[in-house]
Amino acid sequence: MAMKGNISVHTENIFPIIKKFLYSDHEIFLRELVSNAVDATQKLKTLAATSEAKGELGDLKIKVKLDKDAKTLHIIDRGIGMTEEEVNKYINQLAFSSAEEFLDKYKDKGAQVIGHFGLGFYSAFMVASKVELITRSYKEGADAVKWSCDGSTSFEISAAEKEDRGTEIILHLADDSLEFNEDSRIRNILEKYCKFLPVEIEFEEKVLNNPTPLWTKAPADCTKEDYENFYKELYPFSETPLFWIHLNVDYPFKLTGILYFPKIKNEFEVTRNKIQLFSNQVFVTDSVQDIVPEFLMLLHGVIDSPDIPLNVSRSYLQSDANVKKINSHISKKVADKLEEIFKSDRTEFNNKWESIGTFVKYGMISDEKFFERGKKFCLLLNKANDLFTIDEYKEKIAPSQTDKDNKVVYLYSNDLKAHDSFIQTIEKRGYDVLKMDGVLDNHFISNIEHKWEGVVWKRVDSESIDKLIDKDVKKESVLNDADQTAIKDAFVNSFGNAGQFVFETEALAPDDQFLTLITPEWERRMKEMQKMQGMSMFGNLPDTYRVVINTNHNLSVKLSKMSEGDAKMQTMKQAFDLARLSQNLLHGEELTAFINRNMGQL
Ligand code: ADP
Repeated sequence: MAMKGNISVHTENIFPIIKKFLYSDHEIFLRELVSNAVDATQKLKTLAATSEAKGELGDLKIKVKLDKDAKTLHIIDRGIGMTEEEVNKYINQLAFSSAEEFLDKYKDKGAQVIGHFGLGFYSAFMVASKVELITRSYKEGADAVKWSCDGSTSFEISAAEKEDRGTEIILHLADDSLEFNEDSRIRNILEKYCKFLPVEIEFEEKVLNNPTPLWTKAPADCTKEDYENFYKELYPFSETPLFWIHLNVDYPFKLTGILYFPKIKNEFEVTRNKIQLFSNQVFVTDSVQDIVPEFLMLLHGVIDSPDIPLNVSRSYLQSDANVKKINSHISKKVADKLEEIFKSDRTEFNNKWESIGTFVKYGMISDEKFFERGKKFCLLLNKANDLFTIDEYKEKIAPSQTDKDNKVVYLYSNDLKAHDSFIQTIEKRGYDVLKMDGVLDNHFISNIEHKWEGVVWKRVDSESIDKLIDKDVKKESVLNDADQTAIKDAFVNSFGNAGQFVFETEALAPDDQFLTLITPEWERRMKEMQKMQGMSMFGNLPDTYRVVINTNHNLSVKLSKMSEGDAKMQTMKQAFDLARLSQNLLHGEELTAFINRNMGQL
């Protein structure tokens, strides 16, 4: 029954082209061939279950063997096998047509088609100069057949000796692919792509995979320990995760997986690309940016979905409806989980906030739907280290921190130490200060502020104390108008010439600071935004400050009584230097002079 034939093909010789285009991804040939072996094995199991395949199935392990002397790689399965007719249909026609289809798409899209193109059986020719396939169908009385092809468009089919049911693929490694004639290389590829394949894969007489990974089980059957152990299996050197979400969807798409929330000690330390994507337990990639919402890229774990089109370009993936649905499903599940912990165990939620805060804030900034969910459980930390939801906090501070326009003012600091003098003044008034020193916090504040009616956010150094929360209560000024103007003019004349400091007077409490250096909230935000976007229009200008002179401070009274001269000048300079020092604005020679002057007084 020996026969020769030509694969019907429109290109003279397709293989060199396949080789050239898929250069960087050569190793996936093994993923493709082992996946085929798995499919054939699974099909046999299905047939056996419906009694279509008779007899004992026996050991269904798939074996990968390397014969280094012969430079051949063997992939052997005990699956359904093929009859001669089927070899003709599936290998010569079907498999080839997928190779051709691949080439067509490749021609259109060029370099856009990256990786993950399921070239299937013919990807063997990326590394082999000759491929042999020996197979015997599970069907009763079927004869074994051998198919071979040397990479040209002609093939041979002949009768073969094969006792066992199933298929053996033999790759004669090409001279330029001898890197695959190494045990370690083959083992690495198998560990990368086949680690969780559903059928046992043996190489060097060792089974390399876990055929029933945790995500394939029903959530109800998994214990806390199971989840923690599986996490260790995925990331052997990582700390125990905070909690996890077991995804298990059937409709309208199929999606399983486990997402872990890692402990985050330092926002800059976090590693992305820790989520692995599988398709029916075959590893596909660990760059999942289009499937997982951006803000959840910091999570770890696995996602398995046969419904994600793997064999297309990224731009297609971004517009794919299934991918979009999966994306919002994951986002919803994460919100569900967070809300569940928040509601059932607030202490636990508070304890974990330091690690999960970043996800939640990032999610609220970048995803409208997540914002709606997150606003219920997003927490704020105040200086006393207590945590509040945004509404709880509003309730706490509203009695004392509501201004004349009926807005509740959230006072915050991104640097408690640097803002110490402001915070002391604020606390004297009985107001509360929030700690907002995370990398995202600036962004978070400006993003959520307009979504909260009746709330404004002000940094502690953005106004003088009575204007931070303006209650429209005018304090009596101890000094008359003329004296106030005189003090202001004295400061302007002495220190106001570079334009960096703009002086104004205000009648504050006598024990409030004499001089306060402030940067208005909107002005600072503007600068921050421009710095972030790399625009230099304001970013490069020296920072300007408003200097508020407290005319009710006894130093004001004292100054207005002093006659012009060195002594008055000295007093003003000392006070101004101190104010600048507290804002970290005194440098170089001026700082040295300031220190020497004060040392002199000791
Ligand atoms: P795909 O797997 O995407 O269908 P392939 O080119 O990899 O495309 O394979 C084409 C067909 O050849 C398969 O659908 C299957 O019917 C058959 N085949 C490939 N490998 C095996 C195998 N190890 N055992 C049985 N049939 C196989």
